[in-house]
Amino acid sequence: MPHLISFDIDGTLVTGNGPGPITLDMVRRALEHGHIIGSCSDRPVQDQKNMWAAAGIEVSFTVLKHKLDDVKVRFTECEVYYHIGDTDMDKHYAQLSGFEFVQVQIMEPHPWMFDEDNEVKWGPQGRGMPNQQPTRPAATPHATIEAAVPQPDAWG
Ligand SMILES: [Mg+2]
Repeated sequence: MPHLISFDIDGTLVTGNGPGPITLDMVRRALEHGHIIGSCSDRPVQDQKNMWAAAGIEVSFTVLKHKLDDVKVRFTECEVYYHIGDTDMDKHYAQLSGFEFVQVQIMEPHPWMFDEDNEVKWGPQGRGMPNQQPTRPAATPHATIEAAVPQPDAWG
């Protein structure tokens, strides 16, 4: 039996504002795996439809966040119902609607997220929390190695 997978957009899909970790290649593979997919977002439904049309991906539903329960009524023959999103609001409506909430920043990859090389290639922004800024520049590899190896001075 198929899974039903509802995607939040902003902060979840790579096409979101800001871009999330789930790529359109992943979404296409979810379809190839036979799953029923669509979006559930605060964005107007027409906006959601335009996004999918621009990506050339045919989805089974596009709903506002508080309408997720309608999706479960429409598609009764699914093994499991997931809503993948990035915020507490996603969690709230997922649980209210009988969906399993999947927090995109910390989720275990689903089988359809693996590419032909058996790798999970998240979107260019990675999986960090939305709006999280790096607090300092990354250390250079050289500096990291030096810091990790005890220096003669440290031995007294
Ligand atoms: Mg979001």
